[in-house]
Amino acid sequence: MLSAASGPAEGSAKPPGPGPTTPRPVTRPPIRAELAPGVKANRQTPIGPLESPLPQTPQIHQPPHTAPPPTLLPETDRPVPKSRKPTPDDAPPPAPGRHAPTRAAPTPTPTPIDDAQPRGEMKVYKGLPVSQGIVIGRVLVVDDDLRHVARRAIRADAVPREQARFDRAVADSIAEIEAIHKQAEREMGEDAARIFLFHRGMLADKTLVGQIRAIIAKDLVSAEWAANQALSELAEHFRGKDNSVFATKVNDIDDLAHRLTRHLLGEEKSRLAGAQEGTVVVAQDLTPSQTAGFDRSKILGFATNLGGRTSHTAIIAKALEIPAVVGLQTLLRHAHDGMPIILDGDQGTVIVNPDDETLRTYARHIEQQRLFRLSLSELSDLPSITLDGVAVHVVGNIELPDEILKVIKSGGEGIGLYRTEYLYLTGNAEPTEADHYRAYKRCVELCQGRELVIRTVDLGADKYTQAREEVPERNPFLGNRSIRYCLRSVPMFKRQLRALLRASALGPVKMMFPLITSIGELRQAKFILNDVMEELEEDGHDFDRKIKVGMMVEVPSAALLADTFAREVDFFSIGTNDLVQYTLAVDRINERVAHLYQPTHPAVIKLIRDVARAARRHDTPVSCCGEAAGDLEYAMLLIGLGLRTLSVVGSSIPPLKRFIRSVGIQQCERVARQAMSLDSDVLISALLRDRARKAVPEAFDGRSAE
Ligand code: PEP
Ligand code: MG
Repeated sequence: MLSAASGPAEGSAKPPGPGPTTPRPVTRPPIRAELAPGVKANRQTPIGPLESPLPQTPQIHQPPHTAPPPTLLPETDRPVPKSRKPTPDDAPPPAPGRHAPTRAAPTPTPTPIDDAQPRGEMKVYKGLPVSQGIVIGRVLVVDDDLRHVARRAIRADAVPREQARFDRAVADSIAEIEAIHKQAEREMGEDAARIFLFHRGMLADKTLVGQIRAIIAKDLVSAEWAANQALSELAEHFRGKDNSVFATKVNDIDDLAHRLTRHLLGEEKSRLAGAQEGTVVVAQDLTPSQTAGFDRSKILGFATNLGGRTSHTAIIAKALEIPAVVGLQTLLRHAHDGMPIILDGDQGTVIVNPDDETLRTYARHIEQQRLFRLSLSELSDLPSITLDGVAVHVVGNIELPDEILKVIKSGGEGIGLYRTEYLYLTGNAEPTEADHYRAYKRCVELCQGRELVIRTVDLGADKYTQAREEVPERNPFLGNRSIRYCLRSVPMFKRQLRALLRASALGPVKMMFPLITSIGELRQAKFILNDVMEELEEDGHDFDRKIKVGMMVEVPSAALLADTFAREVDFFSIGTNDLVQYTLAVDRINERVAHLYQPTHPAVIKLIRDVARAARRHDTPVSCCGEAAGDLEYAMLLIGLGLRTLSVVGSSIPPLKRFIRSVGIQQCERVARQAMSLDSDVLISALLRDRARKAVPEAFDGRSAE
């Protein structure tokens, strides 16, 4: 059981205002006055226009990415707040650990706040922006992770409902324990079964139950938090006793806490299904499949306490253009159902209970972004070439076949990375060969002759739930993931390869293996591929015998041996998400070390340079498909290092194309040379930031670097 750590993310009262990191030719709205550190903007703080309730507008919700947003806050005759002098803090620095994101946001979907009730204290949280776009909506707390019961706040008027939830969970748990007890008596005898009587007795204990109900009412917290709180105190009490009889009680109490939590959070699972229009999901964490399953007509965005920039939940959010901020650490302590919330996926800011002025500021900004987005749309049919006529191909990363439509519409020349693991994550059972084939056939059809690179399944780490494992791995990112998993599950691997090869008969398909760390692994994978080819021939299936076979370069060993690998593959695709993680020993989804996750670290750049050089020597095409390729500043470096294909999420394509069309190759090469001469990620980030802004100021809010 974890309690949410109080972190630096919480509570600066000064809403930073939408910042400058998204390319948009707009002036940033005025920012609120500074408060002393730690002071929260609230009704008592004389800085906001909170004395009047929000205007009584009807709730209007739009499906995402459609018509212009409605006016959020229609003029009324109530006092309009004074705008405040901008402060040097107007432009908040990008979240730690990375240079500013540079993509334009998807068209946001503002949702008006119709607030009959007075709003509570406004609070501002800072997290990691992982999927761009700004939305305004209402909080829906989803908290169904048994391992991390978070401190979820509730409103005073929700106490009776929460206590009733708790009572139900107690009753259900007692019924369950009684059934287990009966079975245990039959199977283990009366004495051994008695342990369950202890469990039952605890739940029937009015003192304990009363104590938990009281915590709910007094601390205004969720039932699962209150129960875990009381039971962990009790466990602590037994733990302190120097007697092994008491030690066994600790396990019993843990067991009980787990049972109660399961009953309570079992109810939570249905909460997503019941989301209303204009919902912003707030959770401790979300799984990739939860995110992929969001009802987009209802859910505008999400904010989580945990999570990192390149977690697959983040990647899915980006692919589906669901604005998202993660790593907020303590948001769940204060956010509760129905609270108005602004989620700024460009800056990584989340504001709960925003005041009127803040709402106006963001509403204006949302409209400006929408117009900026429109101005990029004319680029989609123009070639992706630099000022001096060099082609830099921009292709798309997808998780789901239908995303191809968006990639093409955005001007993508094809698909550089199709992550097939989502076939496994979205269904309950392992996909059959027919399931694979159906998905790949659809991709080939949608691509209409354009490049399509299908990556074989990259399960493991955060891409399949460790809960499915009987014994979860201690270090899943260093464990049985990706190609390792496939080489140990050959029948499963072969099913995918069969389908993939069969799809290659329908149109141009390339394939690549993820996480190759040694030549032996690559050869083994190719050996199995040959096996499958022979089987298909025997079965009379058509396929492309000369299918191009590539590999991801995403661990240092693969980068260091690029010369060796180049002799045995048709192409490389550099995966910076993992390359950064494995080069710098920084867990890509751990928000505590997110500041150390630096694609601009000189070691990472040297590895990329060496791969690009090896590829050139062997005439092996090389692309980059990590998230960093979608960052304009980083893209400048990659082009300068010699990369001529960048594979990015659909929403990154228009700004990236515009950037490419505005720079020269020599300019990029000069920047790359300068970057290679610097010795720290901070200096390199600053250099890229400066050079990219000088080269294409309009891509960065019209500002060049000072
Ligand atoms: C990468 O590691 O950069 C990559 C593209 O693969 P994934 O994010 O799917 O692990
Ligand atoms: Mg990877």
